[in-house]
Amino acid sequence: MYGLPKTHKSGNPMRPITSGVGSAPHQLAKKLAKPLSDLLGKTSGTHLRNSGDLLNRIKDERMNDKKLASFDVKSLFTNVPLQDAMEAVRRALDDNQDIALPVPKADFIRLVRLCVEFGALEFEGNEYKQIDGLAMGSPLSPVLACIFMETLETDHFLNIVGQSTTWLRYVDDILVIVNKQQDLDSVLRKLNDVHPKIQFTCEQEQDGKLPFLDTLIWNRESRLMFSVYRKPTNKNDFIHFYSSHSQRTKTGVVLGFYLRAFRICSKEYLQNELEYIRTTFTKLSYPLGLLLQLEKKAIKIRSRSSNSNATKRKEYISVPLSEQSEVITSFTRGALNITSPSGSTIKDILRRKKKASNQNSVVYKIPCGVCEKSYIGETYRGAAKRVEEHKRDLRNHQESNAIVQHVDDAGHLPNWSAMSNLCVGLNKRNRQAVEAAFISTISNFNGNSGKVKLSKHTAQLILKNDFRK
Ligand SMILES: [Zn+2]
Repeated sequence: MYGLPKTHKSGNPMRPITSGVGSAPHQLAKKLAKPLSDLLGKTSGTHLRNSGDLLNRIKDERMNDKKLASFDVKSLFTNVPLQDAMEAVRRALDDNQDIALPVPKADFIRLVRLCVEFGALEFEGNEYKQIDGLAMGSPLSPVLACIFMETLETDHFLNIVGQSTTWLRYVDDILVIVNKQQDLDSVLRKLNDVHPKIQFTCEQEQDGKLPFLDTLIWNRESRLMFSVYRKPTNKNDFIHFYSSHSQRTKTGVVLGFYLRAFRICSKEYLQNELEYIRTTFTKLSYPLGLLLQLEKKAIKIRSRSSNSNATKRKEYISVPLSEQSEVITSFTRGALNITSPSGSTIKDILRRKKKASNQNSVVYKIPCGVCEKSYIGETYRGAAKRVEEHKRDLRNHQESNAIVQHVDDAGHLPNWSAMSNLCVGLNKRNRQAVEAAFISTISNFNGNSGKVKLSKHTAQLILKNDFRK
């Protein structure tokens, strides 16, 4: 688990992420998320795919006597109760029998449950299990959260806001268009009474405008207009023209700005946005000619994509950035896209690297100096330190220490210098299991069978498992 700071919120709270990449259920979760995403929008019809979808659905809205507001669910993912989410999935699948599932429905639901209940995470070297809520980072979480929200909308939220209200939701962000007289504070109270875990905050339009996703929505002259929204934390800090990124990356960034301008902006705000792109990137040393060329290219792409919806997928290969990558691009023109691995991101810098295994975490053996028995112990502080502590116990005649007891009972002193590590670098749980396994198989004078209870067979299995290092 790691956290990413929310730079746009005061106090910079952390967004916790448990990355499931590489974990056992991650691939399965990806496969299960696909058919589930076909269910989105089928229950309540409020689901938004992206900001383009939003614009299409509200651009013709008549705004006479209406106002804009947005509701935001606080920490949606971690607050969705697993039980309720599973129930919502079952209901949505029952209502939509035509959805193609890779396995029979009952098995499908069991697999989804298996994935969401897995929730294992590691933090600062300790292992934890998430007992409720959806994991931030699982491919199933967004789609399950949405399906859960859709059932709440159908059963409660849409009734509370009333039929005349437009209610559109992108995951946990909801845009509403309501009558000017409607008391949104009382609506907010009613919404928050529905489910103790699902709590909303409300933001109303200010001076006839409201930000939603990457769009600033303007309520002017009884209709809606749109411009690009940038968070107040935006610093216009994009890739400099003389940065050693590939030419493709740099033109790609600018082209993305132009495409978004054409996609979002109403004609009233388009010139402003184009001007913004020009000044911002001129300051970053981009030649004006290149900017104008990219603006034209964006217009061409827009007209092409509105004429044909068929998008051909190209294959990508990743080549380390060098002079040659430009040459390769020109050779493979059209057939292949070349990308370059990106450098470190803020995430790479902030994220705690997985610690190397602790070499002081050991299961060790101290043989008796006379008979064939040994003492088996485990520690995360290194065996040498423990040997010193055992010697001190002997001097102080600490009777609870098994070594001291063996000296008392048999009169045998341990052979300190023959102390050896049986295994190194395990985490606490595995270390204690391995200790117990050795105690049950090696002749010893330990006072007890270890901190973990093991059957003879389990002990043998554990020791077969290559822990003897
Ligand atoms: Zn002995």
